[in-house]
Amino acid sequence: MNDDSMCTVLSAQELIRKLKENDGQIVIFGAGFVGELTRLALAEHGIECAYFADNNPEKEGHCLRGVPIVLPESLPERLPDAVFLIATIAVDLITHQLSGLGYSTFWDPVELIRQFEWRKAEWSTPHAIVERAISLYDFSSAARTGSDKCYVKSLDAVLTEKCSLRCKDCANLMQYYEKPADCNQAELWHSLDRFMASIDRIFELRILGGEPLLMKNFHESIRHFLTYKNCDYLIVYTNGTIVPKGENLECLKDPRILVSISDYGPISRNLQNLCDTFQENGIIHLTSVQTRWQDCGDIILRKRSREQLQKVFEECCANDAFTLLHGKLYRCPFAAHAVNLGAIQPVADEIVSLGDDGISDEEIQRQTRNFCGKHSFVSACSFCAGRDFRCDAVPAAVQAKKPLMISIREESAPEPESEASY
Ligand code: SF4
Ligand code: SF4
Repeated sequence: MNDDSMCTVLSAQELIRKLKENDGQIVIFGAGFVGELTRLALAEHGIECAYFADNNPEKEGHCLRGVPIVLPESLPERLPDAVFLIATIAVDLITHQLSGLGYSTFWDPVELIRQFEWRKAEWSTPHAIVERAISLYDFSSAARTGSDKCYVKSLDAVLTEKCSLRCKDCANLMQYYEKPADCNQAELWHSLDRFMASIDRIFELRILGGEPLLMKNFHESIRHFLTYKNCDYLIVYTNGTIVPKGENLECLKDPRILVSISDYGPISRNLQNLCDTFQENGIIHLTSVQTRWQDCGDIILRKRSREQLQKVFEECCANDAFTLLHGKLYRCPFAAHAVNLGAIQPVADEIVSLGDDGISDEEIQRQTRNFCGKHSFVSACSFCAGRDFRCDAVPAAVQAKKPLMISIREESAPEPESEASY
């Protein structure tokens, strides 16, 4: 990426001055909470924006706080001289994308947002959820402009391969497990302790499975994870089929925990009961209705050159979804489970063996920090559809009756490419 794709951080005052000079040409990139917040902060200073831009086609044609949402590709025709406020955490990726469309003026609204009293505005979403989104944005901005500190956005800690559903297009490849097992608790804690000691700060530790509530003594792991002082939030992902009781419910009451519930319609069979229980117990939770998924649950050997692999990786929304599975740190859930299932070969320098006591703590720290700073594709990207908003969609949570067979096939119609495939 060249300097054209730099996103500049300005003081709130300076930013307001520049925005007033560009009246009518302002686009906010990111139609999420931070974008919404940016819009409100601008309005407080009497500044209007022309559009929200967002890569999610499902948002196209809708309005957010009265401003239309458009796909970025449509902007050169609509607003060729647009200036952008980048209200998303994927700043480098987005500025690079917009540079490719011919734009060159990108500002980070972080200072404007810090000044804005967002609690005074009306929100249809609970404040705890909005606050978390703002904190993530603030964290990412600090990480980008920070020094040599190792800040990590998130880590997926897999508690179990078991799930109460068997979705045939599960992006985490649960549909292929014939004999799913819980992770060994001692190994999980030990490897996670080493990871946490190797980095300076993590925004969110994401607890998932399969279905994490199926793990034996789930609450013990949650209590252990809450002892990490350098972790901002714990997010527990669940599919609305299980209502936790006793200690498993109690442990979720900590204000640092958010439970993210996927609503798959009738197959999330205990959704209402779960939400009611969380409501009664003051447990912070967010329900997201899921009807469509990216089609990325197949393991197919794809003919891609190194350049194509790097592009797929850079545009992938899971390229920094570091995943801890059975004592090993992987780039993303697809890589972790494809290796764990034996579908693809492990590649030594793409994995950190956190649970291996034959490796010193100093070496684990060196490898972990190096791993977190890398931004290049992994071997698994040769077998993965890639996860960006443009990939094909499938209906969410269609169930398979039995585990799917892994049979790696080659892509039927190779893309024309002159260079050797990876
Ligand atoms: S997508 Fe389906 S199979 Fe995969 S973890 Fe979630 S509920 Fe389980
Ligand atoms: S394998 Fe590559 S493309 Fe697939 S999810 Fe992981 S990082 Fe993304």
